[in-house]
Amino acid sequence: MNIVNDSTCSWINDLPLRTNIKSLQSNEDSEWLIIGAGYTGLSAARKLGQLYPNQKIILVDAQLAGEGASGRNSGYLVDTTLNDGFTSNKDLDNYKKKTDIYNLGINVVKKFINDYQVDCDWNECGKYFASSKKEDEKILRNFSDTLKKLGFTHNLLSNNELSKRLGTNFYNVALYTKGGVLLHPGKLVRAMIDVLPKNVCLYENSSLLSWSETKDIISCKFKNGRVITKKIIFATNGFLKSLGIKSNYNFPITLTASMTRPLTDDEFKSIGQPKEWGVLPIRPMGATIRMTKDRRILIRNTAEVHNPFKMSESDLNKRSINQKIGIKKRFPQLPENIVKSSWSGVVSRTRNSSQIFEKIDNNIFAAGCYNGSGIGVGTLFGEQIAIKATHENSKEIKTIEARRKPTWLPPNPFLNFGVKGRLIYERFKARSDI
Ligand SMILES: Cc1cc2nc3c(=O)[nH]c(=O)nc-3n(C[C@H](O)[C@H](O)[C@H](O)COP(=O)(O)OP(=O)(O)OC[C@H]3O[C@@H](n4cnc5c(N)ncnc54)[C@H](O)[C@@H]3O)c2cc1C
Repeated sequence: MNIVNDSTCSWINDLPLRTNIKSLQSNEDSEWLIIGAGYTGLSAARKLGQLYPNQKIILVDAQLAGEGASGRNSGYLVDTTLNDGFTSNKDLDNYKKKTDIYNLGINVVKKFINDYQVDCDWNECGKYFASSKKEDEKILRNFSDTLKKLGFTHNLLSNNELSKRLGTNFYNVALYTKGGVLLHPGKLVRAMIDVLPKNVCLYENSSLLSWSETKDIISCKFKNGRVITKKIIFATNGFLKSLGIKSNYNFPITLTASMTRPLTDDEFKSIGQPKEWGVLPIRPMGATIRMTKDRRILIRNTAEVHNPFKMSESDLNKRSINQKIGIKKRFPQLPENIVKSSWSGVVSRTRNSSQIFEKIDNNIFAAGCYNGSGIGVGTLFGEQIAIKATHENSKEIKTIEARRKPTWLPPNPFLNFGVKGRLIYERFKARSDI
């Protein structure tokens, strides 16, 4: 099945059009094949290209490189998360293991942008976990205890201070964490495409249709050709399941987001001219909302079981209406029609929020399932799965593998029923903050 790109993502449309796009049109042999050219696949290709400058590395994507979730996310490079889904990490040791991975993720992206002098609107401004409900302070105080024990700089804020900083009266309580970065996800992923080593052949609009392995040789079928490879890395995140990779351990979730045009001077003054900020919800289904460096407002307030290959225009419009309401609730003084675009993207989830980082079989590797932390963790996992695929080890791999593995999921239709039910319940609990 083809992935249909809605072509309406503001981050992607901010970028210059790419030229020299090639798709796979013949049969080829390679040492390495990487499926999926988002942060994970691009980082794996970059690392392999550096390690083996004389070997042939093929990187393929079903759509244009970087135009999956990597180019359409909300741009929070996180050091901590409060909710990453269906199970909470209550226990401190597990939470520390998770944040150790986040920390490596931030460092690897930082190194990338320094090494290649990338401009991706990097802003180390921290982030807010906020709620309109005063009673949610209890959740934040518990979270604050965890952060204190692990040495994360943070503080609790109430309505007055928040309205000054965010330009909205909507939030009554928040926890601000100093760590974490806001960035332009499209610019970051575009830079990863631009700096691919010379021995990486990138084929786009080339969907892997099927694959098989015989005697350590892997054969991959595409619409207009076949690749025979010695080693393969699956970096398709929300599409791991559809390719039969760890299918009982991950499932796709579709998210939608909307972004306004830049606010005019008067509009910006009417909300108090706040500096760039990012708010994450306290409950998993609340809205992520962000003020960008260039005064645009981004909102993401849906997460659902949906066909990952396509969202129709009318389905997208329905979600966009909800997002306009979300913006209006927070900024009633702004005009109605400031939303410029809406788009959807697919992520991959696991039952216990752990990530996939694995040797699946001899010469077959996979990385994915980062929940809301794929910018840093995807970049980290891409580089490190490449190292693992060379049978080397690293201190980063030790940290990644110290975390527990994803747990088993029931097959469909039970899985879909379960996830849908849970999402409805979570949406109900977060209804005031959508
Ligand atoms: C709306 C939204 C908001 C988000 N917000 C944040 C955030 O603020 N911070 C954060 O850290 N993360 C966020 N995420 C998650 C983050 O974007 C992902 O975790 C990250 O992009 C995963 O990178 P990836 O390279 O593994 O996958 P992707 O970027 O999804 O790349 C996988 C690629 O595989 C390709 N592919 C799939 N099937 C095939 C096939 N059969 N053949 C060839 N290619 C194939 C796809 O076309 C795609 O380009 C968000 C995601 C969305 C959608």
